[in-house]
Amino acid sequence: MIIVMEKDASDVAIAAVEAKIRANGLEVHVSRGTERTLIGAIGDERKLDPEMFDTMDGVEKSMHIVKPYKLVAREWHKANTVIDAGGIPIGGKTVQVIAGPCSVETHDQMHAAAVGVQAGGARLMRGGAFKPRTSPYTFQGKGVEGLKLLKDAAASCRLPVVTELMDVRMLDSFLEHGVDVIQIGTRNMQNFDLLKAVGQVQTPVILKRGMSATISEWLMAGEYIAAGGNHNIIFCERGIRTFESAYRNVLDVTAIPVMKRETHLPVIVDPSHAGGKAWMVPALSRAAVAAGADGLLIEIHPTPKDAWCDADQALTPAEFGTLMAELGALAKAVGREF
Ligand code: PEP
Ligand code: MN
Repeated sequence: MIIVMEKDASDVAIAAVEAKIRANGLEVHVSRGTERTLIGAIGDERKLDPEMFDTMDGVEKSMHIVKPYKLVAREWHKANTVIDAGGIPIGGKTVQVIAGPCSVETHDQMHAAAVGVQAGGARLMRGGAFKPRTSPYTFQGKGVEGLKLLKDAAASCRLPVVTELMDVRMLDSFLEHGVDVIQIGTRNMQNFDLLKAVGQVQTPVILKRGMSATISEWLMAGEYIAAGGNHNIIFCERGIRTFESAYRNVLDVTAIPVMKRETHLPVIVDPSHAGGKAWMVPALSRAAVAAGADGLLIEIHPTPKDAWCDADQALTPAEFGTLMAELGALAKAVGREF
């Protein structure tokens, strides 16, 4: 961290800044120029925050010179990390697809969905048992019963499962029911207690980007999970809020190469929640794969018009099959396997 002193900063003010840096266990390097003095803090500057210095006498401004995230950063870990998601590698050469309904509804719906997931060639199945809904009056998910229906349907097609955890108190139940990958939804990306809790287990976590989160906030949310000891993190871009209201969210395609550069962990894309319409899903999926995404999270439903949640954005199994065939060729064209 560098602390820039004001032009007329006194020696006492400079000494106070030096003392504060040393008190935090870092070394000090002072550079006195003709105009002003710069004080460098040398060591693990993540312990320091600009807030600690900006209010001190004689300080003009202070700033970090290294990134605040470490465990998730490519800076410290050059090679791509491949996550074992219930036996399926995510982050390697193969672009992996996770598909399934928005929410778990019934035994028959889940079994038909599982057949569609498998027929299309996706390797993991999704389905929400606990749903974060905007209205408290709409369907909130089947809860624990939904976890069982998801596991049962997916097992019949030998697919590992991905499902969203909203509440720390349900974590044990997720583990007992053999959830293979825990999804943290956009609304909980900065629920730090939830992040700390999933940091305590080794189950892989799909960390969706907060709908209004910056890249740095998203990486720091991942850092929370990694700091707890769980390094099995998969970042998922799912669209962000902008001024545009013609579609549900804006798929931030730019985030894909930026995240791939910043982190060694896999980056996948959810084209369904980004566009919010089934007809947009193929185009957004192609964009994601072309931009370097390690996988896709796609909503499908045996009969989309009957879906209890996100009906407008679900693909039919037939549409999904067509898309998967197309994506295979595209993935190969960009040097990936499918
Ligand atoms: C979901 O995947 O069903 C979901 C609720 O996603 P998000 O958190 O991205 O809205
Ligand atoms: Mn959904």
